[in-house]
Amino acid sequence: MNLHEYQGKQLFRQQGIPVPEGRLLQQAEQLPQAATELGGGRWVLKAQVHAGGRGKGGGVLVSSSLEELEAGARRILAQPLVTPQTGADGLPVSALLLEPACAIQRELYLGLLLDRAAERLLVMASAAGGMSIEEVAAKTPEQIHSLHIDPVVGVQPDQGRELAFALGLEGDQIKQFGQMLSRLYALYVAEDASLVEINPLVVTQSGDLLALDAKINLDDNAAFRHPQRAQWRDLSQEDAREAQAAEHELNYISLDGNIGCMVNGAGLAMATMDLVKLHGGLPANFLDVGGGTTAARVAEAFKLILSDSQVKAVLVNIFGGIVRCDLIAEGIISAIKEVGIQIPVVVRLEGTRAAEGLAMLNASGLALETASDLTQAAQRVVAAAGGAA
Ligand code: ADP
Ligand code: MG
Repeated sequence: MNLHEYQGKQLFRQQGIPVPEGRLLQQAEQLPQAATELGGGRWVLKAQVHAGGRGKGGGVLVSSSLEELEAGARRILAQPLVTPQTGADGLPVSALLLEPACAIQRELYLGLLLDRAAERLLVMASAAGGMSIEEVAAKTPEQIHSLHIDPVVGVQPDQGRELAFALGLEGDQIKQFGQMLSRLYALYVAEDASLVEINPLVVTQSGDLLALDAKINLDDNAAFRHPQRAQWRDLSQEDAREAQAAEHELNYISLDGNIGCMVNGAGLAMATMDLVKLHGGLPANFLDVGGGTTAARVAEAFKLILSDSQVKAVLVNIFGGIVRCDLIAEGIISAIKEVGIQIPVVVRLEGTRAAEGLAMLNASGLALETASDLTQAAQRVVAAAGGAA
């Protein structure tokens, strides 16, 4: 799951990573008082959404006029924010972070993420931080310095110094950077993160380091170790169908196509999507209903797939290894009766008691097409959805 910037900064603060003081606003009217409390004569107002690129998308406003900021707050809260990292629909904004504007000397980048190939955490740092770091990474990757952390010993002091020199830091900044890197690493490990990013990490006019942005992704596989995370979750920022799927322990990811896919097993689900594409179709989703599929889960899965109005046909591909295909067929039949499907459904069953399952589907009187091999199933569902894209 992703955190908002203000939540990330709270974690930074707890860990001793310097961040600006801030106030969270839900309404524009709260702005003048919050600004007065923060003091200073210039402020930054920042939309809280689970996406970067806010600066480029009009979600970050710097001003010394309270009237201008209050009007800006009203405007940003009124509609979804579209940035280069959101889709065209944008993300709803229900909170704003107000901070004193910091006098910036330089904008750096510092990030920590898992390098799966190396089986280590990777630190990345660049002197070319700020709003165009993606462009820097694409066009001048030599401007990004990186090194791995040995999990046995953690961040070593010379690693902090090496990066600090590469960033052109000097004097006390080198010490501050080393401390910041160690604390960032400690936070990453303690929170079971999968990405922690400070962009920009600024050198202020007075020469100190300050984290002006915070991006944190947490590893969902470790959620059971962090019960406090539940309160950080903001469902308004997540795909509604993906959130609904998570509630039913279904592995679902929305895609852009028109063929709904319901499959057991993640590997088979990916192979199924490949085959649909091979035959000219476009999957509307990835969906793994899991190994021990039940009729109830099949019904939930159907509801989920059909709640996407783009879906023109559904492909059910179940391999009965542990589960019995006749039980799955029973589930499919009751699910279709319950949900009332109006579009073509192609079902491929293979494995334990597949013949019995297919016979039940054929005898059900429901408008289902059955197939016994995957190629045929893919061809049929592509045709049913209106032919190759
Ligand atoms: P995003 O990454 O979504 O664009 P950032 O938080 O990085 O949002 O803000 C974009 C830019 O706004 C920063 O690169 C920085 O120049 C400026 N900025 C952000 N916070 C402050 C602040 N507190 N004071 C001064 N400038 C800021
Ligand atoms: Mg940023």
